[in-house]
Amino acid sequence: MALAFDEYGRPFIILKEQEQKTRVRGIEAQKANISAGKAVARILRTSLGPKGMDKMLQSPDGDVTITNDGATILEQMDVDNQIAKLMVELSRSQDYEIGDGTTGVVVMAGALLEQAERLLERGIHPIRIAEGYEMASRIAVEHLEHIAQKFDFGPTNIEPLVQTCMTTLSSKMQIAIHMLVSTENVNRCKRPLAEISVKAVLSVADLERKDVNLDLIKVEGKVGGKLEDTELVYGITVDKDMSHPQMPKKIEDAKIAILTCPFEPPKPKTKHKVDIDTVEKFQTLRQQEQKYFDDMVQKCKDVGATLVICQWGFDDEANHLLMHRNLPAVRWVGGGRIVPRFQELTPEKLGRAGLVREKSFGTTKDKMLYIEHCANSRAVTIFIRGGNKMMIEETKRSIHDALCVARNLIRNNSIVYGGGSAEISCSIAVEAAADEYPGVEQYAIRAFADALDSVSIALAENSGLQPIETLSAVKSQQIKENNPHFGIDCNDVGTNDMREQNVFETLIGKQQQILLATQVVKMILKIDDVISPSDY
Ligand code: ADP
Repeated sequence: MALAFDEYGRPFIILKEQEQKTRVRGIEAQKANISAGKAVARILRTSLGPKGMDKMLQSPDGDVTITNDGATILEQMDVDNQIAKLMVELSRSQDYEIGDGTTGVVVMAGALLEQAERLLERGIHPIRIAEGYEMASRIAVEHLEHIAQKFDFGPTNIEPLVQTCMTTLSSKMQIAIHMLVSTENVNRCKRPLAEISVKAVLSVADLERKDVNLDLIKVEGKVGGKLEDTELVYGITVDKDMSHPQMPKKIEDAKIAILTCPFEPPKPKTKHKVDIDTVEKFQTLRQQEQKYFDDMVQKCKDVGATLVICQWGFDDEANHLLMHRNLPAVRWVGGGRIVPRFQELTPEKLGRAGLVREKSFGTTKDKMLYIEHCANSRAVTIFIRGGNKMMIEETKRSIHDALCVARNLIRNNSIVYGGGSAEISCSIAVEAAADEYPGVEQYAIRAFADALDSVSIALAENSGLQPIETLSAVKSQQIKENNPHFGIDCNDVGTNDMREQNVFETLIGKQQQILLATQVVKMILKIDDVISPSDY
């Protein structure tokens, strides 16, 4: 394909005949793109909200994921349509910036595309639609500021944060919930998991600077046990045990030598020849080797180490010696890079941990090492237990979302209420504003208001409610009582006041959803020429 210019400087595209490209232009291009985007949104729609469905995805190598997390579903779907990829990217951006609302943002974009399609059919130019959407999104984002409220919490009052994380977990952990069967069980788990998430975030947060470094929170999982056994470790966990069963299971105030160099006498190189023809010679060599290792152990003890963590293994003889010399050790531990050469071992290089303990689990006697209260690291680990891998993976994703929500609240404590209530309130505001625009844009602005309703419609549909009736009832209630807190009572609690239900989302998260969805839809509308290889 080549781009050329005619005598008036207008560009045109030369397609070589052999190259066999297909080309879709103008309104056809927009329609094709819109339907691709809508298709992706339709898949996620049924996963939205506390009653959303899960998707089961199988990877080419047979791994199965069951999830209702938008970003994960799209990530694993392996779409090859370019517009569908944009939607995947959209969900990923929301995940990256906010960490929550990844399904909602795609549902919103899908609704905007659907509305755009209708406007295109009525002959409105895509650029005018894009402009109208832009104006409407600004109105909506501003309106969110008006209805936002401050969310109060502090280091001594973490209950509000815990409640929020519980809301997030409840719309996420569907699979765990189904496996636990009774709701009583679910609630029993949700609370501790929410508390763990909040405590983890607070322990790595800088409340003064309103900053949280989520990288310091490791989320690990191990199959076995029950979800209730999930715990927060103020340090790290290592899936290893002490190298010898008779070594102590608990070391307080541990000074740890982390060795990335081999912890054994140097092996004779294959090129060298060692002649061992007498028993004496063999004995001497053996003694030399033993002495060498003994010296190494002594060196560790001299610098004050009370535990050795080795990246490599050592043989049983060495192990025995370590046990005798009272130096507990762990072998085959990946990661750390502190003492790469044995000669460099100094007291300053030792890691310090308030407590190192070996923990064994249930009947399987699986052992793990907990290294807690490390002197120069605030890292914490959320250690998830559960009956199977899929459940653990989904719990990990849910906890990730809960951590993000808590982080977002620490960064900015403004919130809007959920259950579609904020969207409905924005929809009313945008609809009202539309009348002030004299141009064609007002159609697009009204269409935007309708698209905002789609979140509530999806929530109602997924909860088995009559979508249109429910929405119109809630909308008129909001207008009548001038109260933006009415939404969809998905869980049939008996009130649709989301403030009473304590269902809310962060202001920045909701604003980001609207901005990102608008942005991607504008981008799709502006494409009027799709050129691709014909076998595509
Ligand atoms: P996302 O990936 O977009 O966060 P979710 O499946 O978590 O998708 O659904 C979030 C939506 O569900 C939000 O609109 C939120 O307000 C709503 N929601 C969550 N919990 C409830 C609830 N208990 N009642 C009503 N709506 C809820």
